[in-house]
Amino acid sequence: MPGEIKGLNEECGIFGVWGHPDSAQLTYYGLHALQHRGQEGAGIVTTDGKQMKLHKGHGLINEVFSQNQLQELKGHASAGHVRYATAGDGGYENIQPLVFRSQTGSLALAHNGNLVNAHALKSQLEGQGSILTTTSDTEVVAHLIKRARHLPLDEAIMEALSMIKGAYAFLLMTEDQMFVANDPRGLRPISLGQMGDAWVVSSETCGFDVIGATHEREVKPGELVVISNEGVEAKRYASPIQRTLCSMEYVYFSRPDSNLDGKNVHASRKRMGKALAKEAPVEADVVTGVPDSSISAAIGYAEESGIPYELGLIKNRYVGRTFIQPSQELREQGVKMKLSAVRGIVEGKRVVMVDDSIVRGTTSRRIVQMLKDAGASEVHVRIASPPIKNPCYYGIDTANSGELIASNRSVEEIEEQIGADSLTFLSPDGLNEAIYQGEESIEHGGCMACFTGNYPTEIYPNTAHPYEKL
Ligand code: AMP
Ligand code: SF4
Repeated sequence: MPGEIKGLNEECGIFGVWGHPDSAQLTYYGLHALQHRGQEGAGIVTTDGKQMKLHKGHGLINEVFSQNQLQELKGHASAGHVRYATAGDGGYENIQPLVFRSQTGSLALAHNGNLVNAHALKSQLEGQGSILTTTSDTEVVAHLIKRARHLPLDEAIMEALSMIKGAYAFLLMTEDQMFVANDPRGLRPISLGQMGDAWVVSSETCGFDVIGATHEREVKPGELVVISNEGVEAKRYASPIQRTLCSMEYVYFSRPDSNLDGKNVHASRKRMGKALAKEAPVEADVVTGVPDSSISAAIGYAEESGIPYELGLIKNRYVGRTFIQPSQELREQGVKMKLSAVRGIVEGKRVVMVDDSIVRGTTSRRIVQMLKDAGASEVHVRIASPPIKNPCYYGIDTANSGELIASNRSVEEIEEQIGADSLTFLSPDGLNEAIYQGEESIEHGGCMACFTGNYPTEIYPNTAHPYEKL
């Protein structure tokens, strides 16, 4: 459908700095730390209080920016974005931040997440005469803000936010203010930090560490934080609902050195591995993890089971994440380029291969084969999350139902397809317990919809995967 908003699967990274003369350079470093959240495009917009300058492009952050380009971006405040998008949505115009210029000034927007009612809002806006130039949800929000321009800007933003539904962390910037918003359920992470007198915004806390900023706090669900030279003011545009932070942030997406809601990601993954060893013990000689995202869970499995952890798989650092490859065929080639099995470690051994998740099943099948080709006598696959049976409508590319290997297959069928001697997934309760450790889980259970089908928001027709019935 032309002009249709496809769920952009923007599992992106957002970084911003307010009140520092080197704001663009710091944003560049911050985005570098968030590079794992998106490798398809990057952009930084900077303001000196009078005008905004934007530079963006396709590729990794160090491909998009040269030192000269960064020096052009002079100003005390910057907003940046690294972008992940699936095939077809990767046009230049969709690379963020998006900047909307008008006679009264400019508005820059960067977004992480996915709006479930973007399609309905877009039709409504077009019906009222708005012309939308990108296929991005973010533009819908800019138009909603523009429509409320009779109000002071903070109120216009809150009015727009109250109309959108889904998962979002937003960073907005004008020449004299920066705004950070989190959706009413806090599905995506977004935090505030400080560096001397400057304020810093980052999707993950690892972005603060890289520039020596301190983490102040999470932006709360339903909160709009306004940052200006006058200081920081927190406003609430939606009443608090139970926070349902995305569990896949803990399982796979966030960097192990980040803390989400005060919980270290590596430590959480280790607990997932330990829980998996308790739920699914197996007699074996070595435990190995699929680098990098599964190493923490594999260490946990080894620690709990007493089976030694070994480096059975080695990653070639210079190949990007498997999912960046747009087609299945390229993805399969990508897996081969990325990983090698270490014959000296696995030959003649019964290997426990721990991975964080199975999405399409391509990775597990290839790795099992790789380990067997390198002489492993048995390969027992242990997955540190439950089977992904349902699509994500909140900005994580977990594929659509048709592509998800677990959507209509039993564990035994998947085991056979990937050629493993045995296969077990962590239970949903085991995952919840590993993240929230006991009491807390009752109050702060995160989103687990891709595992359980229990979506924390309404899902509208034509959201991320328009052809799927719910
Ligand atoms: P697959 O081959 O499709 O089963 O991919 C599974 C692998 O992709 C796992 O090893 C994960 O580390 C990784 N993964 C899980 N979720 C995602 C995601 N949303 N985007 C990119 N990679 C992912
Ligand atoms: Fe995260 Fe899954 Fe929920 Fe999407 S459906 S927000 S990937 S837990």
